[in-house]
Amino acid sequence: MAESVSEWLQRDSERLWHPYSSLSEPSPVRLVRGADGVRLRLSSGPSGESGDVAGDVGGTVEVIDAMASWWCMIHGYRHPVLDAAVKSQVDDFSHVMFGGLTHEPAIRLADRLVEITPEPLRHVFFCDSGSVSVEVAIKLALQYQVARGNSGRTRMLTVRGGYHGDTFAPMSVCDPVNGMHSLFTGALKEQVFGPQPPAGFDRPDDDPEFLAWAAAVSDIAERNADGIAGIIVEPILQGAGGMYPYSPACLRVLRELADRHGFLLILDEIATGFGRTGTMFASEHAGIDPDILCIGKALTGGYLSMAATLCTTDVAHTVSNGPGGALMHGPTFMANPLACSVALASIDLLLSQDWAGRVAQISAGLSAGLAPAASMPGVKDVRVIGAVGVVQLGGPVDMKRMTEAVLRRGVWVRPFRDLVYTMPPYICTDEEIATIGAAITGAVQEVG
Ligand SMILES: *Cc1c(COP(=O)(O)O)cnc(C)c1O
Repeated sequence: MAESVSEWLQRDSERLWHPYSSLSEPSPVRLVRGADGVRLRLSSGPSGESGDVAGDVGGTVEVIDAMASWWCMIHGYRHPVLDAAVKSQVDDFSHVMFGGLTHEPAIRLADRLVEITPEPLRHVFFCDSGSVSVEVAIKLALQYQVARGNSGRTRMLTVRGGYHGDTFAPMSVCDPVNGMHSLFTGALKEQVFGPQPPAGFDRPDDDPEFLAWAAAVSDIAERNADGIAGIIVEPILQGAGGMYPYSPACLRVLRELADRHGFLLILDEIATGFGRTGTMFASEHAGIDPDILCIGKALTGGYLSMAATLCTTDVAHTVSNGPGGALMHGPTFMANPLACSVALASIDLLLSQDWAGRVAQISAGLSAGLAPAASMPGVKDVRVIGAVGVVQLGGPVDMKRMTEAVLRRGVWVRPFRDLVYTMPPYICTDEEIATIGAAITGAVQEVG
């Protein structure tokens, strides 16, 4: 017997954690009935949650997913090429352990990643999620320093405003305020925090705020150098910490500090990788290379959970020749063949088209579409970088009302803090990008 939408939602609310959720006061969730291209089909059900969304037919509504399922689904849902890659791998084998065994999908994908990432990165560690790839990156940096006889170098230097994931090592380098460090005082490693880089991608190199930031972060690095193993940041765009772009010159300062003091530079491109900011990897804006790189999210085109940590030959061999004699990590589902196959298909699909032109076009469309919000009361800032569009309000977003107001205009977003933003799939047409822009500005005007 088919259950009603409200019955499904009732069972969900009794049983299931959702991201950052409470079980005693669950926030509303919507039931997905299907997904195709850039669209989600949501039930509009009797509980009224998506009640009067534009285009309500037969109990479901179709809306544009302006989040690309948390920035992953760059080619959209049910892409025939990605579907075929998964199906064909299922017919071969879905999984094998990676201890003592290997397979073509992993080897091919590792080669492709080394080809498309910055030149010095030559070696690949596959794991299941972005947070774990950050764990592995930090572990590599610590093992590297031990191997160099610097066992006192156990801390990471980062900047305020960052987000690197939800397990404990990543949490320790998240912004101390937004990352809720106070909840875990005593359990989190105390890292070294520099100030947040000044806002704005287009800041000139002789800008006084930039120079002040560079001096402050250099001073902190200098004073703590003996205890620091590496620097970790999200290059060019801080994502879940606040959708906050900063200038490439800041990355050049960090690269220089790493070289001067013997730190490893870890770039977390889990959000920015695969073209999102307009270059394949955001570090390319700065013309610098990391020693260690984390990628995830869009890696599999949103199909399966997978991330990777890449490193230079110096890092790989120093760690391997160190006291441990090995990199001490090995997840059960390491290099899962289904995930490797679909990741390879997703990257090849991206490379087979003018993705940079497409991202530039989306960028222009979002700039035009969100511009009217800039002059609305209650709006603090409107910013666009690559295929990322952000409206920042003067105070916290009324999540429920804002989500509903955008949905009524045919678009799905997930605002947080004071931000309503979009990271759409790259396959969105100009018209769909215009719809997203109009839905966000319209909802911001209505809800404020
Ligand atoms: C999402 C994200 C992570 C965490 O990835 P998960 O797959 O959610 O563990 C880490 N760093 C950045 C920059 C991210 O955007």
